[in-house]
Amino acid sequence: MSNSYDVIVIGGGHAGIEASIVSSKMGAKTILITMLIEQIGACSCNPAIGGLGKGHLVKELDAIGGVMGEITDKSIIQFKTLNGSKGPAVRGSRAQIDMDKYKQVAKNLCFSEKNLEIIQDSVNSLIIEDGTIRGVITSLNKKYFAKKVIITTGTFLNGLIHVGESKHNAGRFGEFSSQKLAENLKNLSFEIGRLKTGTTPRIDGRSIDFSSIELHEGDEIVKPFSYKTDKTLFCKNQIPCYIAYTNETIHKLIESNFDKAPLFSGQIEGTGPRYCPSIEDKVSRFRERSRHQLFVEPQTIEATEYYINGLSTSLPTEIQDMIIKSIVGFENAKIVRYGYAIEYDYVQPTQLLHTLESKKINGLYLAGQINGTTGYEEAAAQGLMSGINAVLSIRGDEPFILRRDEAYIGVLIDDLVTKGTNEPYRMFTSRAEYRLLLREDNAIFRLFEYSKKFGLISQSNYEIICSNRKLIDVAFEYLKSTFVTPSKDFIDLLDSIDESKITDKTLMCDVVARSTFTPQKLIAIDSYFANFDIYILDMVVVYAKYYRYIEKQQKQIDKMKQMINKKIPKNFIFKTISGLSSEAIEKLEKFMPLTFFDANNISGISPSDLDVLSLYIDLRNKKGAK
Ligand code: FAD
Repeated sequence: MSNSYDVIVIGGGHAGIEASIVSSKMGAKTILITMLIEQIGACSCNPAIGGLGKGHLVKELDAIGGVMGEITDKSIIQFKTLNGSKGPAVRGSRAQIDMDKYKQVAKNLCFSEKNLEIIQDSVNSLIIEDGTIRGVITSLNKKYFAKKVIITTGTFLNGLIHVGESKHNAGRFGEFSSQKLAENLKNLSFEIGRLKTGTTPRIDGRSIDFSSIELHEGDEIVKPFSYKTDKTLFCKNQIPCYIAYTNETIHKLIESNFDKAPLFSGQIEGTGPRYCPSIEDKVSRFRERSRHQLFVEPQTIEATEYYINGLSTSLPTEIQDMIIKSIVGFENAKIVRYGYAIEYDYVQPTQLLHTLESKKINGLYLAGQINGTTGYEEAAAQGLMSGINAVLSIRGDEPFILRRDEAYIGVLIDDLVTKGTNEPYRMFTSRAEYRLLLREDNAIFRLFEYSKKFGLISQSNYEIICSNRKLIDVAFEYLKSTFVTPSKDFIDLLDSIDESKITDKTLMCDVVARSTFTPQKLIAIDSYFANFDIYILDMVVVYAKYYRYIEKQQKQIDKMKQMINKKIPKNFIFKTISGLSSEAIEKLEKFMPLTFFDANNISGISPSDLDVLSLYIDLRNKKGAK
């Protein structure tokens, strides 16, 4: 049948792009059904990819075989490393992008995939037989059949837009919402919740007085997200951003109009993103603040429109006009697009397996904002994992599940499917227990073997990465096995690079571990490193700074791996263990897990609770054995 496929992907957003491209690359006959072809890869909100925790996701995606890094590098207009002064584990790469270019590159990538067909239509319902997905029915009454279906409909399910008292159904401003599919999922008895997000007004660039606001330039060194990008060829000219501020006049104006804010009037029921609140929410929660910072970011390279990062609002249009005109530098500013809030349905992700396949309907996968997450990167990561798993399942191969100690993507999916979410979930470095291991800089080495396994990397790129990894290992081994002594020559050498002297025979690795040490200094103290690429030495210096902590973390992981296989005695009485938190006791007594693996999957059970439990059971077993 010509309308028969291996995989159907519904929705061409960030999750849908990854899912459909990877499925096609892995040889599956795939079709992407999306409402508007020109909106493939649309960034609904801020014109930026990456950020804290999110940059990690993009690099991991890239290492496994995803395309978000590549698309970002091709549409980048400014680059910054966030938390640059902090340790490498918590730094985050962030790129301002040209939103139009991003869409163009994403669309072209989809159209260049040989196993991928694309059709503009809207899916209204799923075809299910005996608890297994068979296909979909669209608004044009067409039927498409497939072995697997991946839903990536973002904020479109039952989407409802609010601006002041006005509200209307839409998936994004100006785009239809997905009502029928939302109804279909409800009828299939999925547990559905309601979330909310919002966006800021966009301003005509000609109407901003840039001389009155602060210039905010990108970093001097621009680092690509994708290992495939030629570092010497991309992002030659960065476009500046700016910083402006709200003020007390604006706060008073907002406060006096709280009754007109859908967020406070009871009009909005869904829960909003905790870490990306609207300006009315910020004014209400932080009354003591006299101003809030606003980043003024160009939406495209031509900078015709600016996005006001930090000013998300759903206040009535006349109040948005007044707010904007009260910002210094914006006295004559003209809004091109008003800010709005959107409420939408999401599917509680505890109804999914770690492969993102529904527990209820075989062969149906869900990825992206539909699973309660917020953010392009979180969506893309799920899209990639669902696409890979759909194809593996067709082949009858083992599923692809990343562990929490392996990747942020593993943390993201594990959090979602085991703990669920009642508010928009975004990634942070603090969500990962093993963040020293899960750095942006080593994402490629952590994960590139998977892209080889799934056939998503060229042989030449694979060999380059293998050879780089070898060079890093060799250089690091040298540091770990070479001692330096406090000879006059060496102390002078240290002095010449502004490093304090050593007093004893010291492992070179420990000298390099100092926070002030750089790759250039490494070359200066030992000619052994003169022929290494600076990129390799960058990594070696990071390894040196962290290796003692990393060894410790690795031991914890090994311990956890052993612990996870342990059994918990039947009818175990948890409340007798004094070291457990009261929340842990309550949850353990409620769910009565029979293994540590099950206990670990209960929301609210921390690694330290598992430690205490393990110690107690070991002691009990020992006593019993005697
Ligand atoms: P989307 O990018 O939403 O893509 C969904 C795709 O599915 C669209 O192409 C749509 O046309 C298609 N589709 C929907 N229903 C159907 C159907 N039935 N049939 C066929 N195609 C269908 N994230 C942040 O991180 N920070 C923010 O500040 C932020 N603010 C936001 C503000 C607004 C107003 C909106 C709308 C979103 C905001 N987001 C924000 C969220 C961000 O846009 C999403 O996290 C991200 O785009 C999700 O990607 P996705 O692939 O899951 O879905």
